[in-house]
Amino acid sequence: MLPNFTSMIYPSVDLPEQIIKSITGILEAESAIKIAEREALAGTWDGKARIITKHATTLPQLNNGKKIPPSNWKCEKCDLTQNLWLNLTDGSILCGRKFFNGTGGND
Ligand SMILES: [Zn+2]
Repeated sequence: MLPNFTSMIYPSVDLPEQIIKSITGILEAESAIKIAEREALAGTWDGKARIITKHATTLPQLNNGKKIPPSNWKCEKCDLTQNLWLNLTDGSILCGRKFFNGTGGND
């Protein structure tokens, strides 16, 4: 006689304990992608705790379609590739500003 499958729906207590443990293990397992991401990041941080600044909760971020590239940044206005800064609100990447004495900077 076949078992009564209608009473064997997870997390039914009618399931054998071994099967419940197996299902629980699968459900609680970390995804391979998350494990790979963590391994890829290993060694890229100096160990200091990353603390979310209070300003992050009120920072406006425009949904203007800009994508920040992970590398090869250049100034949007003059193509410089050094001394750049990123505007976290609108995603602009621009080069250094003038120093207090009027030297440097391009914008
Ligand atoms: Zn520039």
